[in-house]
Amino acid sequence: DREVGHASAAGLLKMAEAGETGVLKPDYEGLAAYRAKGGYGIWEKVRSGALAADAIIEKLNDASLRGLGGAGFPAGKKWGFVRGYPGPRLMTINGDEGEPGTFKDRYYLERNPHPMFEGALIGAHVVEAERIYLYMRDEYPAVLEILRTEIAALEAAGLVAPGFIELRRGAGAYICGEESAMIESIEGKRGLPRHRPPYIAEVGVFGRPTLNNNVETLYWVPKILEHGAEWFRAQGKPDHPGMRSWSVSGRVKSPGVKVAPAGVTIRELIDDHCGGMADGHTFKAYLPGGASGGILPASLDDVPLDFGGKLAELGSFVGSHAIVVFSEADNIKDVALNLVDFVTHESCGQCTPCRGGTEKMGKLLRTEGKLDEATIRDLEQVMRDASICGLGQAAPNPVNHLLQYFREDLS
Ligand code: SF4
Repeated sequence: DREVGHASAAGLLKMAEAGETGVLKPDYEGLAAYRAKGGYGIWEKVRSGALAADAIIEKLNDASLRGLGGAGFPAGKKWGFVRGYPGPRLMTINGDEGEPGTFKDRYYLERNPHPMFEGALIGAHVVEAERIYLYMRDEYPAVLEILRTEIAALEAAGLVAPGFIELRRGAGAYICGEESAMIESIEGKRGLPRHRPPYIAEVGVFGRPTLNNNVETLYWVPKILEHGAEWFRAQGKPDHPGMRSWSVSGRVKSPGVKVAPAGVTIRELIDDHCGGMADGHTFKAYLPGGASGGILPASLDDVPLDFGGKLAELGSFVGSHAIVVFSEADNIKDVALNLVDFVTHESCGQCTPCRGGTEKMGKLLRTEGKLDEATIRDLEQVMRDASICGLGQAAPNPVNHLLQYFREDLS
């Protein structure tokens, strides 16, 4: 079941009214069905003390599980850091899946939300968190309905204390997916990224040491503890342990969420997981990591897609594993402009290099005639050096690659 594809027609037909709110919910696996398959067995072992916190952290480290919200920080290491700070401690789950082209967290939550809950309960136990704040984007109304229903079911079943998992709704700001901005938002403030250090592992939500994990990261936790670290590592490519959920969209025959090894190449994703390019389209370029991971040409179709490595040398990153595929029918200057306009709109406005830089970048790209490349390069450097958070620092990546690889599209 490694190919999970996209929503089936049968699944959509099974959608039903969800009571008072009128939100349509997909037919998903609820608590009873998950438990019938042995779900929460690992959690029961953890809470009975049969699986110690140090052993859990060691297993996650052995598995090389990375943070799959975009940053790729080793999960076990993070759990260990948070556990090392004096309590009381808290936990947050980042479900603000706003990166353009990313839809894998939604995929799991609309079908099978309980592995994430089980992973979260294990994480909260390991760091001895007093509460979990689950931050979910409001653009996923069906997911919000599912989460409300399933949190109530968990409480009724005695698997969590009432109020232990608190659902918080985002309000549509892309920047609230950045963990420190998300924490500001949970605290009821405007979602502005914080300066670091201190990192949120030490000073997080309400000033407490905080474990923050992405939905997919937690999804893998019970599976790793059940099947073993070696099982998870073996799913990856050599030197790229583990498997990942790739959101693939664009000019491919079969877009959707694809579970494929870490270190897979774009060529393998297109040919082996997406049925090839869409009819009549020739592969030209791809976004390896959503809006800010840059734009790579088809000639670089053999780069292992993973955190760091060759991708980082190319000024790119895999982030939340959002792959968008373009064909000869697409103009890459238009793509870069679209991405620049997106970050201009979503900049939180807190710092000048990003607030002013993103807008200026759009104007420079729209200049009639020959582009002022010296000024574009100068602006790019200022944004990278002086922006507070990753949004401003990475915003010039698509423009950098446009000038480097797609000069034929500049005129
Ligand atoms: Fe806000 Fe942009 Fe500065 Fe980040 S880089 S803090 S998004 S203005």
